[in-house]
Amino acid sequence: MDDCLFCRIIQGAVPSETVYQDDYVYAFRDISPQAPVHVLVVPREHIESSAQLNAENSHFAAKCFEAISTIAKNEALDSGFRVITNSGIDGGQSVPHLHFHLLGGKTLGAGLI
Ligand code: AMP
Repeated sequence: MDDCLFCRIIQGAVPSETVYQDDYVYAFRDISPQAPVHVLVVPREHIESSAQLNAENSHFAAKCFEAISTIAKNEALDSGFRVITNSGIDGGQSVPHLHFHLLGGKTLGAGLI
C-alpha cells in the first residue's frame, strides 16, 4: 500500500534501522523510543490491525512472535520484556499497519501496559 508508512518502511522507501527481517517479518527501532530497547515488529503483508487477523493471515502474527523471541535474545532482554499492540482509535493505534511494540532494557512499571 503506497500510502502506508510501514509498507513504505518495509519497501525501503522510508529509512529505518533494521533489527531483524525474514520472509514474513520486518523489525526496526521505533523513532521515538519509550524504553532503552523499543523495536517495532511488523508483518510484511499489509494487515491493518489485530482486528483484521483471521484464519488466512494469522500465520503472520505467529511469525511476528517467533521474531520477537529471536530479537529479545539478540537484544539481551534476558530478564524480561513487554509486547504491546494497539488496535484502532480507542486502542491508540496511530499507524494502521499491524505492529507489535517490543519494549525492554529496564524494569517496566506496573500499569495499563
Ligand atoms: P502505534 O501508536 O501503536 O500505532 O505505534 C506507532 C509507532 O510508530 C510509534 O511508537 C511511533 O513512534 C512509531 N513511528 C512512527 N513513524 C516512525 C518511523 N518513521 N520510524 C520508526 N518508528 C516510527
